[in-house]
Amino acid sequence: MPETPKHVAVIGGGYAGMAAAVTLAEHQAAVTVYESGPILGGRARRVEINGVTLDNGLHILIGAYRETLRLIAQVHPAAAAALLPLLRLPLDWYRHQGLHLRAPRLPAPLHLLTALLTTKGANWSERWTAIRMMRALRGANFRLTYDPTVSELLKAHRQGPILTQHLWAPLCVSALNTPPHKASAQLFLNVLRDGLNADRAGSDLLIARVDLSALFPEPAADYVRARGGEVLTGRRVTAVDSVAGGFQVIAGGEARIFSHVICALPPHQVGAFLAGISALSETLEITQAMEYQPITSVYLQFDGRVRLPAPMTGIPHGVAHWIFDRESICGQRGLIGAVISAEGPHQALAQDALGKRVHQELAAHFSPLPPLRWQRVIAEKRATLSATPGLRRPAQKTALTNFWLAGDYTASEYPATLEAAVRSGIVCARGILGHSAAL
Ligand SMILES: Cc1cc2nc3c(=O)[nH]c(=O)nc-3n(C[C@H](O)[C@H](O)[C@H](O)COP(=O)(O)OP(=O)(O)OC[C@H]3O[C@@H](n4cnc5c(N)ncnc54)[C@H](O)[C@@H]3O)c2cc1C
Repeated sequence: MPETPKHVAVIGGGYAGMAAAVTLAEHQAAVTVYESGPILGGRARRVEINGVTLDNGLHILIGAYRETLRLIAQVHPAAAAALLPLLRLPLDWYRHQGLHLRAPRLPAPLHLLTALLTTKGANWSERWTAIRMMRALRGANFRLTYDPTVSELLKAHRQGPILTQHLWAPLCVSALNTPPHKASAQLFLNVLRDGLNADRAGSDLLIARVDLSALFPEPAADYVRARGGEVLTGRRVTAVDSVAGGFQVIAGGEARIFSHVICALPPHQVGAFLAGISALSETLEITQAMEYQPITSVYLQFDGRVRLPAPMTGIPHGVAHWIFDRESICGQRGLIGAVISAEGPHQALAQDALGKRVHQELAAHFSPLPPLRWQRVIAEKRATLSATPGLRRPAQKTALTNFWLAGDYTASEYPATLEAAVRSGIVCARGILGHSAAL
């Protein structure tokens, strides 16, 4: 029998699993989190390189990540909103020697209208066409009757080459981690709706001032433990079996019985736990059909300050999409991070060559640079799902009673992001608690 009438095993200590655990612990439900790695956070976690604390990948949050920001605040109880370890920047789309779009502090959608009207680097005709598109999309409540690609959507709305190349395409790649010719227009519109249109704060960009494990999963673990829950790291689950009254979970050679399971694994690993359960064959089929996109982060450690025009700067025509000034974000002197989202020609380069290329691009735009001390490339091959039109994503509640799925790949209005992960965890927890799952 389960150890308590309701004892939930959460398998996976990424953002989805920890969001589920926090929500369960908040409502006094017994919860045990199993995380196979030594550090919580999964695809958004701390790594140490040459004695410097970094992340496995550079992440950006937006103000519209309502549930992620709420839970971060919940597990950092002492911190007033203004003191949360996040750098909040009003939308400032700065593409070096290219486009510059900046949202003034006006209510939505005036902030966006003004930003588009005053965009530097695009001509009047393109600006008006973009405003017309946003107006038409708003009129349709950002809903499409069918789901074309983002490229097709932009073409249908006659978007000009400058805004397509320097605003819409990089926005699509950053938000969906999928190139516009493959990306779902509906998912893109969901991001535009909440990120650019809903309220002004929704379009703010937020960058963590601490590493991504310290931002949420680790304080979340403290929160869970303080309410009697368990968070076990270095504990890989090897089997989950249906037994009378619940599930037997085996990890590190130890078997325990739980009333419910939330499987919060990445999509390519969840199949191992679904295979053989006939009730979950359709879910298995959906996850097996999923395709993935990479994200590559390049870190360059210089011997002194690199002067960049903004904490986050876009480089047009380069291999690197965005350059992060870690010194101005979190005080890491001379450290630059570059992010390359989605598939592309950069994948043909060996890591060393890719690091050198990014260094050259930085030098081409921001010379003189101080001497380079070291470089490191981290390529996450399966960073997220490929957010393609008509993508099938499994529901959190499965056909197997009391067995739930959490993760960025599960059903969501959002592409595979921190917000999709966090929301999925909350939906599972609320479903188990018998609360309304709607968010
Ligand atoms: C490089 C990179 C950059 C990104 N940039 C952004 C961004 O800018 N903004 C954004 O919103 N999103 C971004 N994302 C996406 C975001 O990181 C993910 O959507 C999110 O972290 C997924 O969380 P998750 O909990 O669903 O899955 P995961 O983070 O994959 O968590 C699953 C956990 O399960 C654990 N696990 C696996 N097998 C077992 C087992 N057998 N037993 C126990 N535990 C197990 C894993 O170790 C992992 O901790 C990025 C992702 C990457 C990789």
